[in-house]
Parts: sequence; structure tokens; C-alpha cells
Amino acid sequence: MAFRPRYLPRLTYPFRVLGMGLAALPIGVVLHDLQAGWPAWAWLVLTCGLWPHLAFLWARRSADPYAAEARNFLIDSVFAGSWVPMMHFNLLPSAVLVTVVTADKVNSGIPGLWLRALPAMVLAMLVVGLVTGFEVDLASRTAVVLACLPIMAIHTLAVSANIYRLMRRVQAQNRQLEEITRRDTLTGVDSRGHWEDQARRLLQRHQDEGVPASLLLLDIDHFKAINDRHGHGVGDDVLRALARCMGDNLPDTGIQGRLGGDEFVVALELPAAQALGLAERLRTAVQSLSFPGQAGLSISISVGLAPAPAAGGLRTWLEAADAALYRAKHAGRNRTEQPGTLSAEAGA
Ligand code: GH3
Ligand code: MG
Repeated sequence: MAFRPRYLPRLTYPFRVLGMGLAALPIGVVLHDLQAGWPAWAWLVLTCGLWPHLAFLWARRSADPYAAEARNFLIDSVFAGSWVPMMHFNLLPSAVLVTVVTADKVNSGIPGLWLRALPAMVLAMLVVGLVTGFEVDLASRTAVVLACLPIMAIHTLAVSANIYRLMRRVQAQNRQLEEITRRDTLTGVDSRGHWEDQARRLLQRHQDEGVPASLLLLDIDHFKAINDRHGHGVGDDVLRALARCMGDNLPDTGIQGRLGGDEFVVALELPAAQALGLAERLRTAVQSLSFPGQAGLSISISVGLAPAPAAGGLRTWLEAADAALYRAKHAGRNRTEQPGTLSAEAGA
């Protein structure tokens, strides 16, 4: 369903007051020149003075303020259309009025509203033209031109400032959204997608420039049993504690992410031998984690270590680490394995 903000009347209100109020200037000058009678002046007071406030109250009290505001926008166009024949088609104020109300529809963000408003405006021109006799006097004298300047300048600048404010807000929200999609919400480490982007870049640098690179794929041992025995909430605490422990024991340059479930991954700009030392330090630190209120709960991790491949992509690298992790699990868990050799065993 389309976005239908209930606060639309509040956003529109000041702009309608400003636009209609400033439109009263050139209309008033033309009416004065035409020596219009009191009905025209009463119409001016109603459409330019009272209507913005009535429109606001009407929309605010509506059960569907968004739909009510869309209707108010159409009424704006009817009023603008009515003024064109009443000003005897005086060219500049007529053009300004029609342009401003049409631009307001576009700026409202209501899909297709400006197009729906055009027939309403033309119909109003025809009906009021028929009533007033379709008199035409296109020329705009200097006083009328001057009276048009405030609506052209002030209304345009006010709308532009509002659009600028909205754009800044959208930019800030986009940045927040980007930050949210980059982080795993439970543990605060990088989300899978963001981690993959960074790991891919490290792999590229390894293959292009020869920088050392190693991957640690780690998985909590018997995590299902922890969930079953202590509850899912404690399981979540364990995941958070592991992420914190990774932060405490691995270098800041390490790219830490959560692949999903109880599986974490770290890409290090280090050769395998140094990465192995870090993996073992982390594995030992994890074993000594304790959990307040959960006496007897201790955890361990199994780690698969893989040096970056000379050829192939991130998938190849992850598969190598996964194969090593598989071996660590099958060799009894709580250990680090790397391809080829048995690296470090449990018992710490
Ligand atoms: P293994 O030693 O072979 O790894 O055994 P395991 O029990 O840890 O098995 P596995 O790694 O497959 O278990 C993953 C479990 O993690 C299954 C799922 O219920 C649990 N899990 C996945 N995501 C979350 C989460 O966000 N919070 C919690 N508490 N549990 C999760
Ligand atoms: Mg597990």
C-alpha cells in the first residue's frame, strides 16, 4: 500500500497560507483595476484568506487526513482556475497562479495529483468564464507585475527550502539504513553482505599485490544444546559474548562478521602462521568466558583456518575454511584446523 502520511495537512498548511496569501496581492491589484464589485472581493477573502485555515481544520478532523488533503489540493486548483476569468485572463498573474498551484501538486508527492487537478482547474475557468462573460484583457501593467513578484520569489524559495530540508533528511536516513544493513543487529559485528564485500577486496589485494590474508571460520560447539538447556535468550547472550571476545582478542584490522546462526568469520591481513596464533588465543579466551546467572555454562568454538587462495574467489576461500572447520568438528571440536595439517588441538 502506498505511503499515506496522516501529517500531510500539517506540512501543507503553512505553504497554503503563504501561497494563497501572496496570490491575493496581484489578484487584488487586478480587481482594483477592473473596479470589481463586492462579490469578487468576498471571493478573494474566502479563497485567499479563509480557505487555507478551513482546509487545514477540515483535513485534520477527517478520518483520512491524507485523502482529505488530496481533495483540498483539488479545491485549490478550482479556486485558482476561477480567478483566471475573474482577472480577465490578465496574463502574468494568471500564469503565475496556474503554475504555482500545479507545482504545489507535484511537490505534494501525491502520485498523479497534478494531472487530476488540471481538468478541475480548466472546468472552473469555463464555468466562471461563462458566468462573468469571458472578458479578456491580457496586458499586465507594472503594478500587477510588481504584485506578482512576492509570490514568485517567496513562495518558490519557501518550497525550495522545504525540498532541501526533506532531501537532507532522506540523505541522513539513507546513511542510517546503510549502517543498519552493514551490522548484524544481535552481535554488532559486520553483517554477512558487508563482510563479504570487504573480504572480497582483501582477497583481490592478496591476488594482485601479494598482501598476506587468512580466514578464520568459527562455530560454537553444541550450540543447539545450549539453547535447549538454557533458553534462546541465553543463547543470544552467548552469541553476543563471543562477538565481544572476538573484538577483544583479534586485531582491529581483522574484518569480523556473522555468516548466520552460530557461525562467525574473520578475514585477517596476516599469513596463516600468525592467524593460527590468534585463532588459538581466541579459542582459549572463549573457553574461559563465564555467564552471570548461568553457573556451569561454558562454551567452546571450533575454528577452520584457510590462507587466501592464489586463484579463485571468495567462495573458494570460504569453502577451504569450511572444510577445515568440518575437520575440526569431526576431530572432536574445540580446536583449530587448517587445510592439510592438524594445527592445534583441544585441551587448553
Ligand atoms: P556443532 O557443534 O556441530 O556446531 O553443533 P551445534 O549444536 O552448534 O549445531 P549448529 O551449529 O548447526 O547449531 C546452530 C544452532 O544455532 C541452531 C539454531 O537453533 C541456533 N541459532 C541460530 N541463530 C540463532 C540466534 O540468533 N540465536 C540463538 N539463540 N540461536 C540461534
Ligand atoms: Mg555450532
